[in-house]
Amino acid sequence: MTDERRAHILVVEDDTALREILAGALNSAGYATSLAAHGITASQMLHATGTIDIVLLDIGLPFVDGWQILEQMDNHHRPAVIVISARGEETDKVRALDLGADDYLAKPFGADELLARVRAVLRRIRPPDSAGGIVMQGDVRVDLGARAVTRKGQEVRLSPTEWLLIAELARNAGVTIDHRTLLQRVWGPQYADERNYLRTFAQRLRVKLEDDPTHPEVVVTVGRQGYRFGPAR
Ligand code: CA
Repeated sequence: MTDERRAHILVVEDDTALREILAGALNSAGYATSLAAHGITASQMLHATGTIDIVLLDIGLPFVDGWQILEQMDNHHRPAVIVISARGEETDKVRALDLGADDYLAKPFGADELLARVRAVLRRIRPPDSAGGIVMQGDVRVDLGARAVTRKGQEVRLSPTEWLLIAELARNAGVTIDHRTLLQRVWGPQYADERNYLRTFAQRLRVKLEDDPTHPEVVVTVGRQGYRFGPAR
């Protein structure tokens, strides 16, 4: 791990056996874990604990389900979220990403798969380079050093993955980045074909950044090739 502090993962899962297995696998890999058996505890822990890096979030939970937790989480210093769901349907995956989840795992999955996803998410939220620079397009200002985006002078709140996507595009402003390269750089090598992720996150960024999301000027689609920040250079 590049960071001095061990990554802290909150496991939200009502199935006791599965919760223990997940926590065991994460602990063995060197991560700190906290456990919540249902949504109310999870919400309380998310509000009380500022050190959680990743939430492993089961969707089917008693009282308050995973969807509600995701909906309530759209605040400033939110951790990354990996949704785990027993249903494994494409519509659930899209819904999870739409609600700001960073990744989605369908049950059943093995410990190796889980740890690979966790590493990929950590790479995203703890990027090694912190090179600065400010990139502007219209009313949108991306401050790469401060990891902040403003639009018309107002701070724009982004999830960790939304930030990484806009930062990757802004770092290469005016240059088209193809889909596979973007997916590999932002999500990780095993995501090269996950066009859904890219489409969903590009759309979310547009809603937050564009005057008219249907005619984007910041997150521009370049034919079938990829995406570009602002006009071609
Ligand atoms: Ca469950």
